[in-house]
Amino acid sequence: MTTPASQRPTRIVVDLDHLTFNLSNIRSHVGVPVMGIVKANAYGHGLVPVALHLQAQGVEQLGVAFVEEGVALRQAGITTPILVLGGIFGPQVAQFIVHDLEITVSSLDKLRQVEAAAQALGRKAVIHLKIDTGMERIGVHSYSAKSFIEAAVASTWCELKGIYSHLACADDPNSPMTAEQLERFLEACEHISRLGAPMPLRHLANSGGILHFPQTHLDMVRPGILLYGVLPDPASQPTVTVKPALSLVSQVVYFKVVKANNPVSYGATWASATDTRVVTIPIGYGDGYPRALSSRGEVLIRSQRYPVVGRVCMDQFMVDIGLDSAWNEDEVVLIGEQEGQRISAEAVAERAGTIPYEILTGLNDRIPREYRGGSPALAPARGTTPPAWG
Ligand SMILES: *Cc1c(COP(=O)(O)O)cnc(C)c1O
Repeated sequence: MTTPASQRPTRIVVDLDHLTFNLSNIRSHVGVPVMGIVKANAYGHGLVPVALHLQAQGVEQLGVAFVEEGVALRQAGITTPILVLGGIFGPQVAQFIVHDLEITVSSLDKLRQVEAAAQALGRKAVIHLKIDTGMERIGVHSYSAKSFIEAAVASTWCELKGIYSHLACADDPNSPMTAEQLERFLEACEHISRLGAPMPLRHLANSGGILHFPQTHLDMVRPGILLYGVLPDPASQPTVTVKPALSLVSQVVYFKVVKANNPVSYGATWASATDTRVVTIPIGYGDGYPRALSSRGEVLIRSQRYPVVGRVCMDQFMVDIGLDSAWNEDEVVLIGEQEGQRISAEAVAERAGTIPYEILTGLNDRIPREYRGGSPALAPARGTTPPAWG
């Protein structure tokens, strides 16, 4: 599917066929259902188009961080089960139930809030229990989860669909933390068996777990970054073959010769020792191209690699092409491929001193997104309205 054409020469191009390829390879690697994680605007790839595509590919479940993201998906006509991964606030619970969003229940108090809202609406809430096995973020500690689990199993207004935890160190194949977290998680799950209740879906593995720890795959996996074809960490083992789905491209908007020792951009932090040719690219930190790439980033023009020079500005930055040629409107690749040369999101992250997650999710809505591949015929009609509530 394609978004309406934008005149802005800077754009994100998402290859939906690469998403298909990644989902399919993750599936055959794990052999269990997949919850495609589409939080944070689908890691910068565009929430609704990516979710529609994953749904068309038969993804079993979608995961988002906030209720607002879930509501946006329902309003776009997504019918696939959606789990909201974040912690909940009492006043929001009715919104979850009305929009048929599955709720992360991360404490006994929150369980009570969900029960009260469900009872008031006369409609059961679908919940997943969140167990903290070492992340020390939301969730009930595995070592004190018994009464929490008992209350959830006994609840008349909650349907217990899942139980899950989150891995803190799965990016690192050598960390002993993951095995410990798995053991704590399985112990908590066993408590459900001891109560004689049916076992809900147990899910634990993020991208790192999928890549490095097969024991964590359990009943469902929750890939985010890997689905988009990016590895979670430079130390990751590529045990699943994936292709990056996102490219970030722009065009040369200006060419000039800069004389020796004449500094470029704010703060005059960079100058060439010789006369040189400098081109300007119309994208900056106001789009999410990190300012940390000042005199550190690289781009591809005419299949050559050139350095970003001087500070990245809000809306533009400069590139030194030395004695080479470049013309206005030449394609500039910031992330992606150009005639065999490639700049990965991982490499950009490393130069910016961060992780690829932050690079991808930072690319904001000032940049238009374009979609290639996929099969639009399979996408459901847009504009399906969710049931009104009240
Ligand atoms: C974001 C998130 C994921 C996905 O993590 P990746 O490392 O991108 O695969 C999985 N589970 C939870 C709870 C998350 O918050």
